[in-house]
Amino acid sequence: MDVQRRNCYLEAIGIDVWVPRRTSTQAIPEPPSDDMAARWEALHSEVLKCTKCGLHATRTQGVVGVGYRRADWLVIGEAPGAEEDRRGEPFVGRAGQLLDAMLRSIGLSRASNVYIANVLKSRPPGNRDPKPEEVAACLPYLLRQIELLQPRLMLAVGRIAAQNLLSTDMPLGRLRGKVHHFGELNTPLIVTYHPAYLLRTPADKRKAWEDLKFARSVFRQVTEGVRNDGDRS
Ligand code: URA
Repeated sequence: MDVQRRNCYLEAIGIDVWVPRRTSTQAIPEPPSDDMAARWEALHSEVLKCTKCGLHATRTQGVVGVGYRRADWLVIGEAPGAEEDRRGEPFVGRAGQLLDAMLRSIGLSRASNVYIANVLKSRPPGNRDPKPEEVAACLPYLLRQIELLQPRLMLAVGRIAAQNLLSTDMPLGRLRGKVHHFGELNTPLIVTYHPAYLLRTPADKRKAWEDLKFARSVFRQVTEGVRNDGDRS
């Protein structure tokens, strides 16, 4: 992406221009194996016909995930909204546009190096918070996505994703700014604000930018094998 476009994205998310030390974290595409492709397809078809919770009765369709299936970065949100439910893809509404701008500001995109999924694959009516039994029914799908992807870094956007992934009821403010770890592979997990919250509270975009830079530095540490102190303070 040229500098001018990147600066436009930064402006769109309400932050000053930042000059990175390295310009790209783009993955080198490799063709997926037949087995991996079959496992992804099986997951997709199961989600699309899933009736494990009551949300199947009110959704238009299941929303599985989108992005590069060999991505190093996995972004996890809460649940599909109205636009996602209609189009069958996560983060395609206004919050999604902001998420894309946030990702692009650190050189990432859903087309080349990020996979995006939600805790819930079906839209809760009126975008209400997910119920615990809905999360319990749906979480195995996300765990399979994580197993297939084996991301190098997970970015939980918003309280619902962060609390459910970390099995905690700590407020989001206390979960930000730290390296958490997820699952058997101890995948580093960083927490930031949900883009829908940032649309309502633009004053916190600057803090989200700090989170993104932090996530990027953790990613570099992980991929370059540099020791990680576990917190940015
Ligand atoms: N909010 C989410 O958490 N996920 C989406 O896919 C859309 C909006």
